[in-house]
Amino acid sequence: MVMLLRSCCRVLLPHIVTCRNHHVSAKGKRCLLSRLYQPRSLWEVKASETEAKPNEPTSKSQKLMIKAGLIRPSSPGCFHYLPFTVRAMEKLIRLIDKEMQDIGGQKIDMPTLSSAALWRQSGRWDLMGKELFRLMDRHNQEYCLGPTHEEAVTHLVASEGGINNKELPLLLYQITRKFRDEQRPCFGLLRGREFYMKDMYTFDISDESAYETYRNVCDAYTNIFRALGVRFVKVQADTGNIGGKMSHEFHLPANIGEDRLLVCGSCDFSANVELLQHNEKNCPVCTGQLKETKGIEIGHTFYLGTKYSHVFKATCYDSQKTPFIAEMGCYGIGVSRLLAASLEVLSKEDDIHWPGLIAPYQVCLISPKKGSKESEAITISETLYDEIIQSVPWLRDETVLDDRSYLTIGKRVKEAHMTGYPYIIVVGKKALETPSLFEVRSHNTDEVHFFSREGVIDFLQRVKVI
Ligand SMILES: [Zn+2]
Repeated sequence: MVMLLRSCCRVLLPHIVTCRNHHVSAKGKRCLLSRLYQPRSLWEVKASETEAKPNEPTSKSQKLMIKAGLIRPSSPGCFHYLPFTVRAMEKLIRLIDKEMQDIGGQKIDMPTLSSAALWRQSGRWDLMGKELFRLMDRHNQEYCLGPTHEEAVTHLVASEGGINNKELPLLLYQITRKFRDEQRPCFGLLRGREFYMKDMYTFDISDESAYETYRNVCDAYTNIFRALGVRFVKVQADTGNIGGKMSHEFHLPANIGEDRLLVCGSCDFSANVELLQHNEKNCPVCTGQLKETKGIEIGHTFYLGTKYSHVFKATCYDSQKTPFIAEMGCYGIGVSRLLAASLEVLSKEDDIHWPGLIAPYQVCLISPKKGSKESEAITISETLYDEIIQSVPWLRDETVLDDRSYLTIGKRVKEAHMTGYPYIIVVGKKALETPSLFEVRSHNTDEVHFFSREGVIDFLQRVKVI
């Protein structure tokens, strides 16, 4: 059936690129690995790029992402995100959008160029050091590339006349590129100069409702990190140059982390070392023993109070139209850092392991090597591919056919493990037996099964993304 269609369409529709490349079948479009941009030729040639140069630290996620053709370095601390990474980022953004919107968050998109005048008004133009990217336009107006947007959003809300009772609490957020002129960018997407951040700003009329909003956002953060299946800790933190009354950080514990955390073994208390007295060994809550661990900061929440709303006169109105200075909060998640940090903590030395929810593709189906005894199984692998996307609709855009039949199965299995597909299906010798058997590898559990055609479909139908 598939063969037939192929020869027809070559004759009838030679002008359609997809047909000429055989990636349209009767059942729909096949996603062919040979067509995906994942520069692998660099794996060996540029292996030196992934080695640590003297005095230049590198990280597991950086090495693996470069090696697997997911990112390419452009300038210090800046990377090209290649197709697999963009797919994973889009999934992560969908997850974050859902959680932010479930608590009433409304998505906006503020300019990257942020006027110096606003930053002078809050006093941060001088307070922020060299990490702020500053620039000047042709009219000698100064700007910065926004690393955070408290000034911009508070000015926006204030200049629009404040917030009505019915709009409260107001939760505005964005997921955009942010900039920080790091002295020494390193560890790939973990500490770059240009990165994606989700930043939310909240406006409440009172202390009590602002605390409730703060708790809601923290709960949403917990949902996000749980959905990714990564171990995380929430710690009390310093408010730093953002300011405010209360702050928490979310960390993924990892040796490469740059923050030192103290976690109580006996109660829930945990804090960033910066917050505690030097050499504190006992928990300030229960006097239990504090244990030190390192963490990669992936989220930060601040209860700001009126620090910015006071400066920019952002006002909330109650039902009697009485004005109150808005109680604000701001909440960040380093989105690209979270992606890299999850790889950092889940991956093995040579293989990427994705949180299932954000794996760029779920399934890689590997066809046999051309010229090998199994080569007639190439047709079988195409048919199996079509059956999978037919019978398991959610895998339609999630299944890749590794059609590079000029490579051995072994080499492609190794590459598939490195890329981190949660499920790898191999069409090999056993596919030619009666009945056909296919090898199904679950990357995250190391399980290998041999299934019949029906067995493969049944297995994939029962797959839950975790
Ligand atoms: Zn304790």
